[in-house]
Amino acid sequence: MSVVIPCYNEEDVLGELYRRLSQVLGSWEETAEIVLVDDGSTDTTWSKMEAIQQKDSRWRIVRFSRNFGHQTAVSAGLRYAAGSAVIVMDADLQDPPEELRRFISKWKDGYEVVYAVRRHRKRGTLKRAAYKTFYRLLSGLSNHDIPLDSGDFCLMDRTVVDLINRMPEKNRFVRGLRAWAGFRKTGIEYERRERAGGEPKYTGTKLLKLAADGIFSFSATPLRLATVLGLVVSGISFLGAGFTLFQRLFPDWFAQFGLAPVPGYATIVISILFVGGVQLVCIGLVGEYVGRIYDETKQRPAWVVEEQQGWEESPVEPSSVGITGYVPERRS
Ligand code: UDP
Ligand code: MG
Repeated sequence: MSVVIPCYNEEDVLGELYRRLSQVLGSWEETAEIVLVDDGSTDTTWSKMEAIQQKDSRWRIVRFSRNFGHQTAVSAGLRYAAGSAVIVMDADLQDPPEELRRFISKWKDGYEVVYAVRRHRKRGTLKRAAYKTFYRLLSGLSNHDIPLDSGDFCLMDRTVVDLINRMPEKNRFVRGLRAWAGFRKTGIEYERRERAGGEPKYTGTKLLKLAADGIFSFSATPLRLATVLGLVVSGISFLGAGFTLFQRLFPDWFAQFGLAPVPGYATIVISILFVGGVQLVCIGLVGEYVGRIYDETKQRPAWVVEEQQGWEESPVEPSSVGITGYVPERRS
């Protein structure tokens, strides 16, 4: 059993995480490894990890050369994990380690993917509403059955992990890839706790990037939407042009209905702005896809490892297919 935990500036919670998770591991009959991925922390996270690794060799640690983002850290963790099943969880103990037993028993029942579904908290905040809208929007747009309100907290069988590892894309939305993979899936409801300490590391812009990756990597519907919108708007402008033409040709007839031609600067300006706006939106939508294509064609490594500890030999085959990072020769 592997447990993958991405950490970014989590010095406040690592001690507690080590304590709680060790307690849980003590009751497992399966052998376990924990893969901590330090996503370029700027605080003492790495030295705390090193201390943990010294104490307990089941904890293996990797450190990125800079902050590559949560989804990349999770993807690297999946690459490094060796277990026949891999659990992904957050470092901040919002995903309680005590729940892991339930995941494992579902896996033993034959499910390849066991994902956690957040039970709704009563407190309605703006962030909650935004999350809700995003999940609904995503499931409406995408053809894959991405479960509502489930995050990255999950257990995946080796089959699914191998498949995800083979996917080379870099703008990753791991829970989407997990849904794309298929296989037997089941959800487990759980209460999402408060952070054990420190501040949330997912800032507004990072969340927006994640939402955009979710939508644009799993749906081409926005492109089609742009086409439809363009057709509708140009249709309306053709009607408007026809109307104006007849208005000029038969002003008296139109005047009966109070529609005599008047200088319509406002109309012109508004329609120009409207059409201009629609065009910009459409270009932007195309740009989202083109930017992602560009990102993928550059073929840069998905992450860069600065240091790794706890493995006898390099755990990741550098030439293997799928997503890989770069490990400098002298440090591997
Ligand atoms: N995280 C990361 N890289 C980042 C941001 C976050 O590895 O750039 C990790 C973080 O350390 C935590 C997990 O991702 O273990 C979830 O982050 P956070 O708790 O801030 O997100 P939230 O729970 O608010 O969604
Ligand atoms: Mg959190």
